[in-house]
Amino acid sequence: MRELVLGVDLGGTKILSGIIGTDGGILAKSRLLTPAGGPERVLDTIAASAAQLLQASGIREQEITGIAIAAPGPLDFAEGMVRDSPNLGWGRVKVKEELSRRMGRPVIVEKDTNMAALGEYYYGPYSKCRELLYITVSTGIGAGIIIGGNLYRGRAGGAGEFGHMVVDAQGALCNCGRRGCLEALASGNAISRQLDEMAGQGRGQGILACTPAGKRPGPRELAAAARQGDEEAELLIARIVQYLGIGIANLANLLNPEVIILGGGVMLGLRDLLLQPVREYVQRHAFALNREDLIIDCTALGDDIVLYGCVAAVSIKDVK
Ligand SMILES: [Zn+2]
Repeated sequence: MRELVLGVDLGGTKILSGIIGTDGGILAKSRLLTPAGGPERVLDTIAASAAQLLQASGIREQEITGIAIAAPGPLDFAEGMVRDSPNLGWGRVKVKEELSRRMGRPVIVEKDTNMAALGEYYYGPYSKCRELLYITVSTGIGAGIIIGGNLYRGRAGGAGEFGHMVVDAQGALCNCGRRGCLEALASGNAISRQLDEMAGQGRGQGILACTPAGKRPGPRELAAAARQGDEEAELLIARIVQYLGIGIANLANLLNPEVIILGGGVMLGLRDLLLQPVREYVQRHAFALNREDLIIDCTALGDDIVLYGCVAAVSIKDVK
């Protein structure tokens, strides 16, 4: 019988909530901006928007099998606690305890990239691949790791911080305090920062020409300029491909996965500009044993990938 799950994808900029069936059908969905004002306000908003979603959909609370929340990392899995999250700007926040209290029943809390990896593993086209990595390239960069068909969280839940793999020791300063992390060089935030620097030096005119008046240029404008053949845009994308390629080749050599799935707003926005060049980079740089049968692809689950993970986290009893 189909079960229903309430899933919430909490991000630094938006809160996506949904009611999803175990058959993969999404019955209702809502999207809100993440409010400013700290964790209390954000947690209150999540609880209120979940109640509103139930009411608007006409689904009774008793019909929901479970509630799962995806939160940015680092996340202590046993405690369900966000710890020093640069994307949320939070210190230690007991998300699991606080939301269970607000929602009147136990909730599952998992790191967003882990949840996405579960979504891909249970609802994506590569679900037979028991060694699967999911990588999000969005405002930040992170990974979820499936090994032998199980989610790999590490000792305390801290595994998968792929965005903080250093790929250039002399590179730009990262929010985490180190230099040359992948996230500081190839994420949406890093792209916007580099475009600002170029504009400050009077460069990147072709990219600015693709930017609506009053808007700050970002990944979308970069992609538009590159598709028109703008050389500066192509050069910046080639650097992003190189950094992602270094990181992904490192992962392929470290973990020898069957499939690496790429998602997130930047990846899905730039898609063709990144996917094939990254595949080619990895083919040139990873060991033959690790690259020969390696599949690298974009997710087919789009923005809803984390919601699919929420269903898996609640309904698949062997999720470990
Ligand atoms: Zn970092």
